[in-house]
Amino acid sequence: MTDQHAPKPVRHLLGLSGGKDSSALAIYLRDKIPEMEYFFADTGAELPETLEYIDLLEDYLGKPIARLNAAKSFEYYLKLNGNFLPTARTRWCTPELKIRPFEQYVGDDQAITYVGIRADEPHRKGYLSTKPNISARYPFIEDGIKKEDVFEILKSSGLGVPKYYEWRSRSGCYFCFFQRKDEWVGLSEKHPELFEKAKAYEQFHREAGRDHTWSPGEDLEELVARADDIRAKAALQQEKEAARPKKKLLDQFGSDDDLDEGCLVCFK
Ligand code: SF4
Repeated sequence: MTDQHAPKPVRHLLGLSGGKDSSALAIYLRDKIPEMEYFFADTGAELPETLEYIDLLEDYLGKPIARLNAAKSFEYYLKLNGNFLPTARTRWCTPELKIRPFEQYVGDDQAITYVGIRADEPHRKGYLSTKPNISARYPFIEDGIKKEDVFEILKSSGLGVPKYYEWRSRSGCYFCFFQRKDEWVGLSEKHPELFEKAKAYEQFHREAGRDHTWSPGEDLEELVARADDIRAKAALQQEKEAARPKKKLLDQFGSDDDLDEGCLVCFK
């Protein structure tokens, strides 16, 4: 018989973004914290590669990954925000599409959330819940796990990195304003229909009298017209990075150092 007056046990939660660090953390903790609950806050605008990777992870972890959806769509919140595209400064998307669904999922339960910030990046900040019943732990920092270790964890599991790594360095919405110009070009090639949708949002924004663009300084039409130039610059940058001494596994999987301006909720 269960004691109805016994306090509810603390919940252990790990949020997956489809990014390499949270995925590696889930693999790393799978057998250490058997009561772990996994969740994925799906913005409704995720890359197909991310969704596919979450499915693979679910099989690997042997437990369901709860899919959390915002009560309303991105389009709804876009209208609510006067058709103003989210930007790094006016970032209404992460609280609405990621944080709020997470907080509703936790409710008033006491919970520990496990965050994949690594030992080589303790300075990183991001959107985390500020609710008093939710506290955070950073096992990679506690155990000195660095970027090369994360790649090793993913490789050893057999999962490797998500497929979007072939052309993009982070998970998150297909239209995310944090992506580089060459990643926009990659989106136009890999997922032309999503690129067109992103263009339509930009147009929508313009019709509302705003001149802001997803990518600084040019709209997506102009950006994709410069695809060759953008690709050439990105290749040059990669060459420069390759010339820098790196650890072996990082050579294999490439760099994601530009993630610093991103967000640990969406990309970790
Ligand atoms: S991935 Fe980018 S666009 Fe999507 S919620 Fe996160 S910050 Fe916003």
